[in-house]
Amino acid sequence: MIYVVGSGPAGISCAHALLCKGLEVTMLDSGIELESERAKILEKFVNSKPESWDLDSIHTIKGNTVASTSGSFFKGVYGSDFPYREVTAYIPHEAKNVQPRISLAKGGLSNIWGAAVLPYIDEDLADWPLSVKELTSHYESVLSFMDLAAVNDDLVNKFPLYSKTYKPLNPSNQTIDLMKDLESSKSILNSKGFLFGHSRLAVNSNCVYCGLCHYGCPIGAIYNSSSTLEELKKNKSFHYIKDVIVQKVSELNNKVNISAITRTKNEPITFTGERVYLACGVISTTKILLESLEAYDKELTIKDSQWFLIPLIRYKKSPGIVNENLYTLSQLFVELFDLNLSKNTINLQLYMYNDLFLNAIKNILGFTYPLFKFPVNELLDRLMLIMGYLHSDSSSAFSVKLEKNTSKLIMEAKINKNVNKTINGVYKKIFENRNLFKAIPIPGITKIPNPGYGSHSGGSFPMRLKPKDFETDSLGRPSGFFKVHVVDSTVFPSIPATTITLTVMANAYRIGSAYNEI
Ligand SMILES: Cc1cc2nc3c(=O)[nH]c(=O)nc-3n(C[C@H](O)[C@H](O)[C@H](O)COP(=O)(O)OP(=O)(O)OC[C@H]3O[C@@H](n4cnc5c(N)ncnc54)[C@H](O)[C@@H]3O)c2cc1C
Ligand code: SF4
Repeated sequence: MIYVVGSGPAGISCAHALLCKGLEVTMLDSGIELESERAKILEKFVNSKPESWDLDSIHTIKGNTVASTSGSFFKGVYGSDFPYREVTAYIPHEAKNVQPRISLAKGGLSNIWGAAVLPYIDEDLADWPLSVKELTSHYESVLSFMDLAAVNDDLVNKFPLYSKTYKPLNPSNQTIDLMKDLESSKSILNSKGFLFGHSRLAVNSNCVYCGLCHYGCPIGAIYNSSSTLEELKKNKSFHYIKDVIVQKVSELNNKVNISAITRTKNEPITFTGERVYLACGVISTTKILLESLEAYDKELTIKDSQWFLIPLIRYKKSPGIVNENLYTLSQLFVELFDLNLSKNTINLQLYMYNDLFLNAIKNILGFTYPLFKFPVNELLDRLMLIMGYLHSDSSSAFSVKLEKNTSKLIMEAKINKNVNKTINGVYKKIFENRNLFKAIPIPGITKIPNPGYGSHSGGSFPMRLKPKDFETDSLGRPSGFFKVHVVDSTVFPSIPATTITLTVMANAYRIGSAYNEI
């Protein structure tokens, strides 16, 4: 039997590739699910038109997702915290100035992701043992089962679509207005290093523009790897075992042994197979590898693509945005190429209005909000957020080690002193070009949170052509192992800025597809 551990984007992609080879696959997964009462509400949504969705149900799925003026918010889904549940029990950890995201849920962090998907380019993969050419067919395979919302625009010049079935989403009025302004100054913006286009999103064409993306898509239009899991379950060669927490792997007599405990009873359970593919997300996978190697107190580094937030005010308003039917994921991508700031691509995702903006302002104004309704609406018609990412070479990182006595993961920030300078440089560059963007970045409120916050992290066991200890070969096998492959971002030698998950999936697909070649 071949085992895949984890049902997030990496595990699902790898399992898909193995099944396409005609192999028999068992997926082991901690697999925590959404509460059944919330799942029932979603069934109602899927089977009805948005006009008939009742307010109580919408209120329930909005739950406790709250915006704060610090720019952060609790990102649950469908009003539930199930993506993060039981993590402290099964992956005990301490994080000093790090914001790690770990999930033991069916579908992993794809339950709560922003679905932005832009591929990597060779210029950003200088330290990888493979090039984009070796990922190309796997990007295509992934985009054959994950829907892509995209437009064939200028981004294609640098970032191929890798899909023939992509469909556009309707942009909001704010996006249409901004795009017009950018288009009118395109050549000058391009000459200054800005390449822009519509966002690329893993969203299907069933979107009904209900504006609830931040709370979890009521009709499942945003890709969640759980939906592919349900498809894989229809294949007789695929088996799914949930409520399993994998702890260690070892090899003996040409077989691989997997030691785990059950989630329900905390009882030990073992599995023996021909090969195992680990896809538990970088932090959980790193813990399994350190336990397996008995590498206690050994410090490794997890690289991070630094997240930052710059609010932007447009010169002119796009009226009535609060009442518009729109989607609230990223609407525009601006890729910035400027060697004075970074030797790598800087990824800027533009988010337009969503009701969390209004809620944050209402929270500040309290009972005085009705008095300020007019100026607040004027502000919202102009407000946009840039969520930016840097390449890991320009970012902070964090250390990770497994404490011997407690089996606790200890993580601590490794701050790159140049991060603030780089992000201030991005701010300054947008400010200098404000008359082209017809928008001004708001001074003094750029947010630069701790590493890990953006969840674009990996690289504790990087792939190398000649792997040493605590490194992996180009098929994700840690030094000393032949039957254990790591297929999530744990093996990324560096983390480019242009969104991590599409390449996590393509790389997992690549490693799964190579099964017969080993
Ligand atoms: C708020 C948010 C927004 C994001 N937005 C984007 C975005 O727009 N674009 C983008 O590219 N990326 C985004 N990401 C990152 C993206 O979600 C991750 O890159 C992606 O989910 C990683 O996939 P994975 O399969 O490697 O791991 P995960 O999604 O973490 O899945 C891990 C799987 O392993 C299982 N598991 C874990 N430990 C064990 C164990 N010990 N035993 C058994 N099973 C286990 C879990 O149940 C889960 O099924 C975002 C993340 C967050 C948190
Ligand atoms: S707007 Fe967002 S939440 Fe609503 S259907 Fe479209 S993708 Fe889903």
